[in-house]
Amino acid sequence: MKFEAIAVENIPLIHTGDDLPSIICKNLELQDRDIVIIASTIVAKAEGEIFRLENITPGKTALEMAARNGKDARFIQAVLSRSREVLVEKPFMLVTTLAGHTCVNAGVDESNIEDGFLLYPPENPDASASRLGNNLEKLSKKKLSVIVTDTNGRAFKIGQTGAAIGIYKIKPVKRWIGEKDLFGKVLEVTEEAVADELAGAANLLMGEGAGGTPVVVIRGFDYYCEEETYIKEMYRPEELDIIKKGLRCLQNRVE
Ligand code: GDP
Ligand code: MN
Ligand code: MN
Repeated sequence: MKFEAIAVENIPLIHTGDDLPSIICKNLELQDRDIVIIASTIVAKAEGEIFRLENITPGKTALEMAARNGKDARFIQAVLSRSREVLVEKPFMLVTTLAGHTCVNAGVDESNIEDGFLLYPPENPDASASRLGNNLEKLSKKKLSVIVTDTNGRAFKIGQTGAAIGIYKIKPVKRWIGEKDLFGKVLEVTEEAVADELAGAANLLMGEGAGGTPVVVIRGFDYYCEEETYIKEMYRPEELDIIKKGLRCLQNRVE
């Protein structure tokens, strides 16, 4: 068993309006059932989600949080404008984004962009993945899956990994429930976060710095799925999310 991970070479610095599918297809011949994994940083750049820090006007909540936590109110405003809930304010902002993804700073980023600018994450990463996927399929005439990724931390371990934030034509979670283990026992709870595992594998080639490799194609791992899929299939239902419940309790306890 094996699969390949191929970094797409020669991707330029991306600017607002750039046609990512054309750029990708120019630099790699895609094959049927390839999984095209694209860093959200370049999706956001192409979508024009670039803001000057000095042009952001903080609202009341951002100013209050900044006063409490000693941070730049404009950066907080940027995070709040993409958040539906703040779970942790300090020492970092852990939020659930408008799209339902829970991560630090709502994915608002100051790295891999010119000084003085902020990059907001794509507003609807599933819609971005679909649009990119449709155009990639048209250009290549191949059946493809797409994963838009970001770099995220994990709750209980040091170190960040690639994480899926938007998907197209790939089932994000593989259910092992009902399958048998080596000894014939039926698995009862195991679900595998395939989209995150693939994002992590791709991130090994992307890196986090000046590598200039924001697109990685996974080939030979057949996880293509014809019907529409949504990243929210990966988000734990509210009533079962005991970590979020715990964080809400804590917030009410600390000033
Ligand atoms: P994120 O994980 O989506 O936040 O993306 P990162 O900022 O970590 O960047 C992932 C990869 O994409 C790294 O190899 C960066 O050097 C690269 N990258 C970021 N922006 C660009 C760009 O505009 N052009 C190219 N070629 N690479 C970029
Ligand atoms: Mn990022
Ligand atoms: Mn990254």
